[in-house]
Amino acid sequence: MSEIVYLDGKFLPAAEARVSVLDRGFIFGDGVYEVIPVYSRRAFRVAEHFRRLQKSLDAVRIANPMTAAEWIGLVDEIVARNAGEDQSVYLQVTRGVAKRDHAFPRDAIPTVLVMSGPLVTPPAEKIERGVPAVTATDYRWLRCDVKSVSLLANCLLRQHAVDAGADEVVLLREGYLTEGSSSNIFAVKGGTLLAPPKNHLVLPGITYDVVIELAQAKRVPLEVREVHESEVRAADELWLTSSTKEVLAITTLDGRPVASGRPGPVFKAMHRAFQDFKRDVMRAAA
Ligand code: PMP
Repeated sequence: MSEIVYLDGKFLPAAEARVSVLDRGFIFGDGVYEVIPVYSRRAFRVAEHFRRLQKSLDAVRIANPMTAAEWIGLVDEIVARNAGEDQSVYLQVTRGVAKRDHAFPRDAIPTVLVMSGPLVTPPAEKIERGVPAVTATDYRWLRCDVKSVSLLANCLLRQHAVDAGADEVVLLREGYLTEGSSSNIFAVKGGTLLAPPKNHLVLPGITYDVVIELAQAKRVPLEVREVHESEVRAADELWLTSSTKEVLAITTLDGRPVASGRPGPVFKAMHRAFQDFKRDVMRAAA
């Protein structure tokens, strides 16, 4: 990851950054995080990321240690101190250091870590051919809308995909599509984009919102509603979206081709629209 990180008020080399073994992030996974893509040294949709951070903090009852303006300043600073035009900023806030006890400590100070590494978006080959995915039962908790650092289930599910030679899992809960281990999932049927609604079962993706906005702007028929497993399996197209993967076609599911097994026309149009949108936003910010 980054050469220089921010930890609790100080900028220091990553190799020198130290957190107590009693940090509740380490002991309980008691914290929340964000990943913000940075294009040409400018953070993308940064206000939206900090709105989501606030929601995650509120949900787990950690007081936000900084204002949105302070956070944005900190992101700019970490980007400036690290190499690379395109970066991926990772930040996390844990409940802090306290004697091990499940109940919240009275006076712990939240631990704040911000780091940045190169933004690695999918290579051209994956954009052109799409990626394999496998289905799995979504056995995570019922607050998947919280961007929690407790990611054991997501790690197990991603490894399930890797073991099957796939890039991502398509998660199904009680017969309905939720999302991936670290991405949102969309389906296309008969030219209509189908998006699972934002609720407690999925992370409200920043990229998900961009895709919905672009679909509306480009007049792509859109249905935000529960998507049944049978619709996932019969889809003309499946996509995954995230801040680092952007928009990527899923072209095989459980070893079977998704329709033709090639990225579809709706995906191609959305991928192009997303790249144009990114470029326009960054140009406007320049
Ligand atoms: N769902 C999950 C479970 C994720 O971890 C992520 C990536 N953080 C997403 C969806 C996509 O969110 P975003 O577009 O904000 O990266």
